[in-house]
Amino acid sequence: MTTELSSTLRITEIFHSLQGESRTIGLPTVFVRLTGCPLRCQYCDSAYAFNGGESMPLEHILQQVGAYRPRYVCVTGGEPLAQPGCLRLLRQLCDAGYQVSLETSGAMDVSAVDPRVSRVVDLKTPGSAEVGRNLYSNIALLGPQDQVKFVLCNRADYDWARFKLDEYGLAEQVGEVLFSPSHAELDARELADWIVADNLPVRFQLQLHKYLWNDQPGH
Ligand code: SF4
Repeated sequence: MTTELSSTLRITEIFHSLQGESRTIGLPTVFVRLTGCPLRCQYCDSAYAFNGGESMPLEHILQQVGAYRPRYVCVTGGEPLAQPGCLRLLRQLCDAGYQVSLETSGAMDVSAVDPRVSRVVDLKTPGSAEVGRNLYSNIALLGPQDQVKFVLCNRADYDWARFKLDEYGLAEQVGEVLFSPSHAELDARELADWIVADNLPVRFQLQLHKYLWNDQPGH
């Protein structure tokens, strides 16, 4: 039996809220937050998911998700793909008829993710302190159903992200390129002005949940 077939996952929380970012922002969504992450981005707002959690059989996870009768399910972390059993969870969520997205750091191979899943792949900037973890081979695997996200800490990050946008032709390849300010570091208005001035083919986004619920766990 391979680890991918593992039927138990370590889960930090399962909750129903509004999607706070990405292409489906504002839509009611069930979140499955998997425990653990091999990265340490300096702005991380999910450090409570690094450790602990509860070991849950896949069937229980699916039952809890189903109880909310969702249309959208987002598998997040931590870094969900750090648990190999995540692949099976994603497949079974798709089989159950949900529209499924996966939020991943960009440091793990996304090739085995079910093609029905919208992969939201971070490209970590120099300001994150984890730029060395980007697995650039992932980019060629992405298509119109997928999204690439940059969290920007300063102007140097913005210039770096613009360069990557050009270098990989991201706007032509993936469904959405998302530019988001690191909440405590980069003024949102400033980033918005830069994007408009440069007429970039990206979607500016703020993390809705931070404004509505002050980033409390469970929202
Ligand atoms: S990849 Fe995500 S969960 Fe992991 S340290 Fe970075 S921001 Fe936090």
